[in-house]
Amino acid sequence: MYKKITSDIIEELSKIVGGNNVLTDAEDMEPYSHDEVVALKADPEVVIKVTNSEQISKVFKLAQQERIPVTPRGAGYGLSGGAVPIHGGIVMSTEKMNCILEIDKKNLMITVEPGVITGDIHRAVEEEGLFYPPDPASLDSCSIGGNVAEGAGGPRAVKYGVTKDYVCGLKAVLPSSEQITCGGKLVKNVTGYNLIQLLIGSEGTLAVVTEIILRLLPLPKVKIDLQVPCDDFLTAANIVSSIIAHRIVPTTIEFMERDSVIAVERLLQKEFPHHDAEAHLLIQLDGNRQQSVEADSEEVGELCLKHGAKDVLIARDRPTSDRLWEARRMIIDALKHESPINHMEDVVVPRAEIPNLLEGIKKIAQRYAVRIISFGHAGDGNVHVNVLKDDIPENRWKSLVPATTEDIYRLTLSLGGMITGEHGIGCTRRRYLPLALDKAQIELMRQIKTVFDPKHILNPGKIYL
Ligand SMILES: Cc1cc2nc3c(=O)[nH]c(=O)nc-3n(C[C@H](O)[C@H](O)[C@H](O)COP(=O)(O)OP(=O)(O)OC[C@H]3O[C@@H](n4cnc5c(N)ncnc54)[C@H](O)[C@@H]3O)c2cc1C
Repeated sequence: MYKKITSDIIEELSKIVGGNNVLTDAEDMEPYSHDEVVALKADPEVVIKVTNSEQISKVFKLAQQERIPVTPRGAGYGLSGGAVPIHGGIVMSTEKMNCILEIDKKNLMITVEPGVITGDIHRAVEEEGLFYPPDPASLDSCSIGGNVAEGAGGPRAVKYGVTKDYVCGLKAVLPSSEQITCGGKLVKNVTGYNLIQLLIGSEGTLAVVTEIILRLLPLPKVKIDLQVPCDDFLTAANIVSSIIAHRIVPTTIEFMERDSVIAVERLLQKEFPHHDAEAHLLIQLDGNRQQSVEADSEEVGELCLKHGAKDVLIARDRPTSDRLWEARRMIIDALKHESPINHMEDVVVPRAEIPNLLEGIKKIAQRYAVRIISFGHAGDGNVHVNVLKDDIPENRWKSLVPATTEDIYRLTLSLGGMITGEHGIGCTRRRYLPLALDKAQIELMRQIKTVFDPKHILNPGKIYL
């Protein structure tokens, strides 16, 4: 289907991006053969590091002419194999397009290149007393271009929304090599179809994003964190519902199940308070006035105890807050420590369905005699479900992963949910797309893909089988 890369093509690419931005050595290209999905790997034939949109446009002209696949790549911290070049060809890394171009304090906007690390945006705007709320847990590693392409979320989604709620403008290069500018420093804009929102979450299959304008907020001055151990998930879920029903919207409402806290204890060799509690909630409140955040946190604490929480631990300063959040931050590392191979799902349900989801997942774990540990975002219904390989033999594991995945998805869909909340379809979930979306929607999406990319050179093999 696709042409192989020849020495002539490498020469052409070197002319476009400069010889020092072309990698062909197998060892140098190895980091670009995978993202953070364990056991998904495909070798690029060449890696190029682009530095501007004119180069990207020229590379697309060449790729069209020769019919070569191009896989865009940010930082490679994806969790669905989106940046893995499964058809070989060119990996196009945006890591060198990493400039913060402008912080516009008058319009409360920041303009960035796609390769900027998300945490650097946070730090840059916070120095100016401003706030970019989307906070994927990988923020110190992943790029903003990857966040846009995946429609990334994070714990603060409950109050502040996700990446798509902050993008006001985008520049992108289409596979046809044309460059487009969508939106701008505009809070309102309904001029034509909303191509910005179409590109967000398109997983690098429609265009390569080259510049992003993000809306900013004033940085909240006060934060209070609460850790709430509970005897079961129903109690935790009732607490969440009662807080929302009392018209208090916390910044974050995270949950951890007991096994995840115990896994972190084993990793760090330390004990956490109430580690025997079946469920833990981590609630953060923020605002500008100490008094009102204090009042909300007191009300939340009372609601927690009224609805059966075992205790409420409160942090008003950074060191105490870091201690409360330590277990949550270390879960992914702790699960890797428990079992170096494990399979992570990213399902999302209406938040009131979380207890039903977790109960159903426990039954799936029993049915397949496998350890499944869940944690995630109780405030927005997004649950990370981890199936641990432990010492399960390889041949059983190979059939167990698709079987448990399908059962988890069917359960999620039966509860009104969807198969991914923030990690994307990529390679790893594409065979399950027909479970989640009807034929007509998938066909429409395929047609949109073909309009953007008639020769299917841009990130082929992603989202659809
Ligand atoms: C420990 C850990 C924690 C995580 N926590 C979260 C979390 O809380 N929330 C969350 O949403 N995700 C989370 N993730 C997943 C991941 O970090 C996000 O999906 C992130 O957005 C990926 O960014 P990246 O730069 O690494 O993208 P990559 O992995 O490099 O690429 C991801 C996709 O974006 C495309 N792409 C990259 N740059 C561009 C561009 N400029 N134009 C067009 N397409 C492009 C690629 O082709 C690919 O399809 C986590 C991952 C890890 C490893």
